[in-house]
Amino acid sequence: LLAADGSAAPTIFAEMSALAAATGAVNLGQGFPDEDGPAEVLAAAREAICEGMNQYPPGRGVPDLLQAIAEHQRRFYGLRIDPQREVLVTAGATEALAATLLALLGGPDDEVVVFEPYYDAYAAVAALAGARLVTVPLRFPDFQPDLDDLRRAVTDRTRIILVNDPHNPTGAVFTAPVREEIVRLADRHDAVIVTDEVYEHLVFDGDHVPIATLPGAWERTVTISSGGKTFATTGWKIGWLTAPAALVDAVLAVKQWLTYVNGAPFQPAIATGLRLPDPVFARIGAELRAKRDLLGTGLSAAGFDVSVPAGTYFTVADAGPLLRHGEDAADFCRSLPARAGVVAIPLTAFASPARRAEYAHLVRFAACKRRDVIAEASARLAALR
Ligand code: PMP
Ligand code: GLN
Repeated sequence: LLAADGSAAPTIFAEMSALAAATGAVNLGQGFPDEDGPAEVLAAAREAICEGMNQYPPGRGVPDLLQAIAEHQRRFYGLRIDPQREVLVTAGATEALAATLLALLGGPDDEVVVFEPYYDAYAAVAALAGARLVTVPLRFPDFQPDLDDLRRAVTDRTRIILVNDPHNPTGAVFTAPVREEIVRLADRHDAVIVTDEVYEHLVFDGDHVPIATLPGAWERTVTISSGGKTFATTGWKIGWLTAPAALVDAVLAVKQWLTYVNGAPFQPAIATGLRLPDPVFARIGAELRAKRDLLGTGLSAAGFDVSVPAGTYFTVADAGPLLRHGEDAADFCRSLPARAGVVAIPLTAFASPARRAEYAHLVRFAACKRRDVIAEASARLAALR
């Protein structure tokens, strides 16, 4: 967690956004939208502030949001959840993840199985919790895990299988057999499934399937999500988890010593968002899908070999054809602002040291930007050829 000189090492996202700001490059690195989301959600936050919702909210979350989360799980997934006992509001999905891992891990031999490449916080938080990370590789271009790799990774030492579906950074959506195998293995080895589904509404073909809806999954699953991606409010940091009451209580015991509570006026605003009608959610997904297509066309024209994502803000491209002699994707991304005026993230930033070489040609681009921004980035990248 510290750099070689003892300073706090910045995350790859902070580093790359700073590079974009310093060079004036188009920022397709860090995953945050450059346009506001639904006006109703923004108005609800302003209203909540004006109405005086500016003091500490209840520890589990504002009742209206707890209720809206339970309604949302019922409306989209058919899950019946007790809003008082089976929901916890957190400071973004990040805190939900951290509090869950800190609550459930403790033994020196505890292992967390994750799919690699993984969102950078997973390895950092597992390290904070003193657990060992065991990784299952996802390979370009479809990024589905091999079921034998998965079976080898999960053992009686596995305390948590950490799932991220839809998956950052690859944009993959796991197939039904993969989901089913995860549940089967968790049951066989008595592991908890912790599933990060922050991109649940950013799925491009068909509907999102929460792993908690599979037979036998609910009682051992902590499902994490966030308002940030769905409503383009990444700076508000309103996240939540849903799980059986005993698991929620264990996580709350940690959460109350991390942030205690968070985001009072933003909580009812996210409740407003979660209650928006179905077509609004469909439009959010469809708009991002169109941006994915625009970005994919631009990257292909520039000479990248593109993996078409099934969800999320992100597209992974093989930069192999564009790499200079001896260069890997990290060198390429560092030089990209100067060469083309674009910022992107090398996939090695999401890989363990042991597997970094497998991802050394791959680059993640964010599609959650205005169309004119994606078009401008595409035009600049075309100059690489
Ligand atoms: N998990 C994944 C997979 C993410 O991509 C992100 C956001 N970048 C987070 C968690 C963090 O979400 P939040 O901002 O709600 O903490
Ligand atoms: N989740 C965002 C991404 O993957 C960034 C979040 C962060 O900066 N930590 O780009």
